[in-house]
Amino acid sequence: MNAQILHADHLLTMDADNTVIAQGAVLIDQNGLIGATGTAAQLSAQHPGVPVRRLANRLLMPGLVNTHAHSGLLRGTAEGLPVWEWLQQHIDPMHRVLNAEEAEIASRLCYAEALLSGTTTIVDMWRYMDGSARAASDLGIRAVLVPYVAEHPDHNYFETLDTNEALIERWHGRAEGRIQVWVGLEHMFYATPQAWRRCAEMSRRHQVGFHTHSNESRFDVEETQRRHGMRPIQALEEFGLLDAHHVMLAHCVWPSEEEMDILAARRIGVAHNPVSNMKLASGAAPVEAMLARGIAVGLGTDGEKENNNLDMFEEMKTASLLAKLSRLDAAALDAWSVCRMATIGGARALGLDKTTGSIEAGKSADLIALRTDTPRMTPLIGGADGNLHHNLVHAVQGGDVDMTMVAGRIVVENGQLLSGDLAHAIAQVNRAVPPLFERRAEWLRLNGTIDALHA
Ligand SMILES: [Zn+2]
Repeated sequence: MNAQILHADHLLTMDADNTVIAQGAVLIDQNGLIGATGTAAQLSAQHPGVPVRRLANRLLMPGLVNTHAHSGLLRGTAEGLPVWEWLQQHIDPMHRVLNAEEAEIASRLCYAEALLSGTTTIVDMWRYMDGSARAASDLGIRAVLVPYVAEHPDHNYFETLDTNEALIERWHGRAEGRIQVWVGLEHMFYATPQAWRRCAEMSRRHQVGFHTHSNESRFDVEETQRRHGMRPIQALEEFGLLDAHHVMLAHCVWPSEEEMDILAARRIGVAHNPVSNMKLASGAAPVEAMLARGIAVGLGTDGEKENNNLDMFEEMKTASLLAKLSRLDAAALDAWSVCRMATIGGARALGLDKTTGSIEAGKSADLIALRTDTPRMTPLIGGADGNLHHNLVHAVQGGDVDMTMVAGRIVVENGQLLSGDLAHAIAQVNRAVPPLFERRAEWLRLNGTIDALHA
């Protein structure tokens, strides 16, 4: 690729000072890295031979980091239940009958939806993830692939630590470094003590992260206390799971003070999923208390079945509203904190903050352009006293994303996916879903509802 300069009306860098540059520009080198930022006048004077691409009526900002998602095919079909009943009646029976082809189709749709709404890095916990790796490789998204591992006789239909390790060996670091493969675990309850030890050991040996769901609901807390006499994050620590190379936990809705101290002391990343936590009636995570302790908190949409979309701008707004409502404080979780969680905070939670999450020299050119010539972006006032960050959190939607670039490659332009055939991906999902649902219904007829807890 050739070096180029992108010049937009506003450049939001999300550097340490949340710098916004009017008539700002980014130099992108031939390796897809950010060479420099500044005003358009400065950069074109310093780099006279480099072509300038003018993005009129556009705001450039870092691509969003979705720290917790699931590819999936159940959108709008698993509604109105709290987490554990929902797992037993809809989700686990689907996992029993899902095949590799359906899993890949789901990932193609998921990554297309993410890129179109401004996400350039996604953490995907899913199944048969060779297909997900191919989808990420083709579509151009930066992906952290985390297999849904279960190591328990009652859950012998999920991924295993063996298939997880094979995926690490095949795909970690591939696609010019865009693909990472971590060690995943659906939930502590889905594995044996021996498997817990192996999760951490495998993560250290391969120098990859470890990701699981923890402390999602009050039930999760009570059940862990009943089984182990301690709270979920204390149990993860007690059983060695926090000794992994790097740990990022989804949810953390009900952490005690002691659990938050553990998260901070061990530099554990957290994925905050406000839409999912509201929809499944899980609760309101103490985001500000975690941020105040220096914990790296990112935002995640969770899956298509618990959100029901992957729009990170909607997640930003919901994070803000949930914090304000749950504390009855209109000043709770200010807009800049939310912007940071969706970008550099998420990258920190993943240990990827040297690569992505802000527009700064040396990082990968993972960035998005938003239309500013829309009613919901108007008026747009830059500068320290402006409203730009408030518009981003409370007004913008994913459909306002005009251009998405990952590692210097434009994958969405004029709001259209360039890196894949979107119509084909949608048609494939629509074809795949009826037979999948038929097989799930057949399985439930023969076996009845699963006791996901095998308690
Ligand atoms: Zn999840």
